[in-house]
Amino acid sequence: MQSRLDVIVVGGGIGGLFAANALAAASGLRVRIYEQAPAIGEIGAGVFLTPNSVRHLKRIGLEPAVQKWGARVGGDSRYFREDGTPIAPVQVTDSSGWNATFGMHRADLVQMLADALPVGALHVGHRCTGFEQDAGKARVSFANGASAEADIVIAADGIHSELRRHVFASSEPVFSGSVAYRGLVPHHRVPDWPTDRWQMWLGKGRHFLAFPVRAGELINYVGFVPTDEEMKESWTAPGDPDVLRQTFAGWDPRIHELLKEVQLTFRWALYDREPLPSWTRQRLSLLGDAAHPMLPHLGQGANQSIEDGMALATILARADRASAPQALLAYERLRRDRVAQVQRGARENGLRYDSVHSDLGVRDAEITAHAAFRRRLYDHDVVPYAQAAAAALLA
Ligand code: FAD
Repeated sequence: MQSRLDVIVVGGGIGGLFAANALAAASGLRVRIYEQAPAIGEIGAGVFLTPNSVRHLKRIGLEPAVQKWGARVGGDSRYFREDGTPIAPVQVTDSSGWNATFGMHRADLVQMLADALPVGALHVGHRCTGFEQDAGKARVSFANGASAEADIVIAADGIHSELRRHVFASSEPVFSGSVAYRGLVPHHRVPDWPTDRWQMWLGKGRHFLAFPVRAGELINYVGFVPTDEEMKESWTAPGDPDVLRQTFAGWDPRIHELLKEVQLTFRWALYDREPLPSWTRQRLSLLGDAAHPMLPHLGQGANQSIEDGMALATILARADRASAPQALLAYERLRRDRVAQVQRGARENGLRYDSVHSDLGVRDAEITAHAAFRRRLYDHDVVPYAQAAAAALLA
């Protein structure tokens, strides 16, 4: 079956940009991607890439860029008690021993993905406000008065997805009761801070994470703390560095070494949603946070959106205009249970990280045992499953 599908992706975040690249590079489809912001970019913060997504970045030729811009973390990565007592090593490889765990600056990852797109594929300044479809085509319209038509529309427009209401009755995001203080410290301000490890400290109701990004030039930190105040999730809500320092007062002195250099911090309230029972309607399907927003406690939101994009591209490579709606359903079926498991797992892990157990020995044993779950997560290669799903579609 000859495949020359024409695909529109709405949303130029990590999920949409990777999907557009995979659709073009791996499957040879015509892709246009529409982003509401006037330019592609991300506020300063880190994202952690794991082997289950890096194998797909490698497939579309971006492994050298990940190695250049990322900071690979190694075997000295650890979980600690709040006072600095080591709990357990962090899983940094898949079961084969392949270490593909990288801290990345989000802006670097987004730029790298945008630079790899086919010329002319990216359209910024397009806020999608409307969607309609019939038996043969799907159409999107934008706040700037433009409109566009394709065989398929993929909504990668994030947790507040505008297009989501066209596939499923609207639902409210679920507030976790926690807020993340995030930011970056230049490594030259903390020259003794290691640039080869992911480190997390766990205490009652809060936890603190730090890992290197941009080839070790910057140290990304995230302080997860409880809050009564529900705030809109945002990269840009400023936080007070002194409040952040007070929140972790009395913890491992290494945390203070880092936090004393913080001049600017951002707060992001943490929301997810209940797993959706379906996320496809004929020629429209969701991807990434639009489909399955999750808490960051497994560091998998971006990684899962990359898996989504690779699964989608692999299945659509074998579809044509007539079979496209079936192909989108096959993509959704392939992804739904795995991402729901990760969504639930992220909630559970957040409780573990916030030490809900009164017996810290139980918590520490669970953290140690969690390496097996991580290996299974990282071993997963969505491509053979997507190929089987595509073959079943043709049978
Ligand atoms: P988004 O990044 O939200 O992108 C959506 C894009 O769509 C945006 O560019 C937006 O401007 C655009 N858009 C929205 N509406 C419209 C519209 N109507 N028209 C056109 N464009 C539109 N994940 C990891 O894998 N590893 C981590 O270490 C990690 N750490 C995290 C830490 C924190 C504190 C948080 C909160 C999340 C973390 N995540 C992590 C999750 C990860 O950031 C998200 O899951 C991921 O970025 C989702 O990507 P996305 O492309 O689906 O959505």
